[in-house]
Amino acid sequence: MSHSFFQPPAQDNYVLRNLRAPRCLLQVDAATADRLRPIHDGHSDLVAVDLRIAHGRIDAIAPAGSFDAASGPDLDASMVLPGMVDVHTHLDKGHIWPRQPNATGDGAGASKATGIDRTANWHADDVRQRMDFGLRTAYAKGVVAIRTHLDSLAPQAAISFPVFREMRERWTGRIELQASSIAPLNIFLTDEGRQLADIVAESGGRLGCVTKSMTYPADTMPPDLDEALVRVFQLAAERGLDLDLHVDESTDPAARSLIRVARTAIAQNFKGRILCGHVTSLALQTDDFIEETIAACKEAGIDIVSLPTVNMYLQDRSPEARTPRWRGVTVLHEMKARGLRVAVAGDNCRDPFYAYGDHDMLDTFTQAVKILHLDHPLGDWIRAATETPAAIMGIDRGTIKVGGPADLLVLKARSYSEMLARAQFDRTVIRAGRAIDTTLPDYRELDALMAV
Ligand SMILES: [Zn+2]
Repeated sequence: MSHSFFQPPAQDNYVLRNLRAPRCLLQVDAATADRLRPIHDGHSDLVAVDLRIAHGRIDAIAPAGSFDAASGPDLDASMVLPGMVDVHTHLDKGHIWPRQPNATGDGAGASKATGIDRTANWHADDVRQRMDFGLRTAYAKGVVAIRTHLDSLAPQAAISFPVFREMRERWTGRIELQASSIAPLNIFLTDEGRQLADIVAESGGRLGCVTKSMTYPADTMPPDLDEALVRVFQLAAERGLDLDLHVDESTDPAARSLIRVARTAIAQNFKGRILCGHVTSLALQTDDFIEETIAACKEAGIDIVSLPTVNMYLQDRSPEARTPRWRGVTVLHEMKARGLRVAVAGDNCRDPFYAYGDHDMLDTFTQAVKILHLDHPLGDWIRAATETPAAIMGIDRGTIKVGGPADLLVLKARSYSEMLARAQFDRTVIRAGRAIDTTLPDYRELDALMAV
């Protein structure tokens, strides 16, 4: 049984009439753009549209009222969004919480708990079943593309990357999947780093690491940071790989790796794409240092992804009952204003790094608005959950355009006010012009895996 609030016609050609779409996500010609009626909510860029669907694709985008009643349902001002894009996740960690919770709720507790569970339980079938559960959940929510990090400390990369390749194949046409390695920085100073780069290259993945070292676990800036970063860049360049790094995920202002990543990229004349995630401690620097770091990122062509729900959960947490004093998120507004490409993403789900989450990019965006103050005005921030992560992934997704796939979320909400206020559990998810079943997988499916 599906909980979708409406079902589109089960036919190849129809029109969805009287929708509200973010102007910034509509790719239309200038003449059409001029005719789209803005919805003056003082807040955003919604416009009134009709969408004609033909054979699974968007066949026409026209001002609301362009098509007659016989052509398809009147959605009475419902919002429409393109299928959403989650550029930073950890599908291999997902849903292990019941068997390995995080005792302290902080980053150190998360790493420790995950290490114990990975060593004990992450055989191929365990990773496969949890990954599939996450993908089915995301699919039902309207997510069309996901990049997942894969814990890659030996021997895990040799287990998880083959499972990823299998899942990428199995999910073709439903969710476009990419992978990045994640491993402590120090392994790139050993042959394990080279072997990992080879596994990543064989899998069509991105090379990734954390800018922290197991050799110096207490240091947020390991003394061999620059030497190891150079090695990461060289291994990637030799294999033509893009980079995807976990950087400065810390409440310690001493964590200043991001600018070193940028300077290494410039010094190495690196040609690939670089995505840096988290960079939470940057928000604790002086304004001058923030500006200097953003300028270096701009020069190096670094893209940024913020993981607001996970950052707020892990950062500034104390062992005693002390109230957190900051939200744990990076300087996303400043980065966007300086022209960096910035995205928000879901990160962890029900694992030691985040006890909650439901693979729902619409919810991630909603929470990002509230945690990062993306509102008043909301402007074009919806791009950070759609078009921008798609561009970072190098895929043609996250917009609504003629000729593009009819992969859409239609919401009962008629405005951002209604959308951001109420969980959109009753959304209709359309894939290739047809409504899909939005029933979520039952957690009970994972009970056998959790019984250890
Ligand atoms: Zn992450």
